[in-house]
Amino acid sequence: MKNLKMKMHSRKRIALVAHDNKKEELLEWAKYNKDVLKNHQLYATGTTGKMLSDTLGIKIKRMLSGPVGGDQEIGAKIAEGKIDVLIFFWDPLEPQPHDPDVKALLRIAVVWNIPVASNKASADFLISSPLFHSEYERKVILKIQ
Ligand code: PGA
Repeated sequence: MKNLKMKMHSRKRIALVAHDNKKEELLEWAKYNKDVLKNHQLYATGTTGKMLSDTLGIKIKRMLSGPVGGDQEIGAKIAEGKIDVLIFFWDPLEPQPHDPDVKALLRIAVVWNIPVASNKASADFLISSPLFHSEYERKVILKIQ
């Protein structure tokens, strides 16, 4: 058993991902919260990232598109301690070709105890939490020797 304490700074590293049917909703949410988001370090899967940077004009580090490995890249960053928050508007009503990657991303976010928002209401609650804007130490318990 290994207990880790992971420090999250007030400037968060935020990953943004949206499935196609949810991209408009994420875009609206990001537009509304642009003034907050621009103070943090943003990452996104390919198409989501392009859409956000084109529309909002803010700097976003883009990964590959989700179905060709972008979800896995974000997951790897979470496991490396390089992402603090995941905003992932996934589509509960359409099958996705990369469903195993989606599941893996959601799973690894729980393993590393990072805050995850899967819809607009939870994203609203997350971004308006005082902890979003301050330092936070999250505990990670790993079942390894
Ligand atoms: P996209 O990937 O931003 O490249 O569309 C998102 C996803 O489907 O996971």
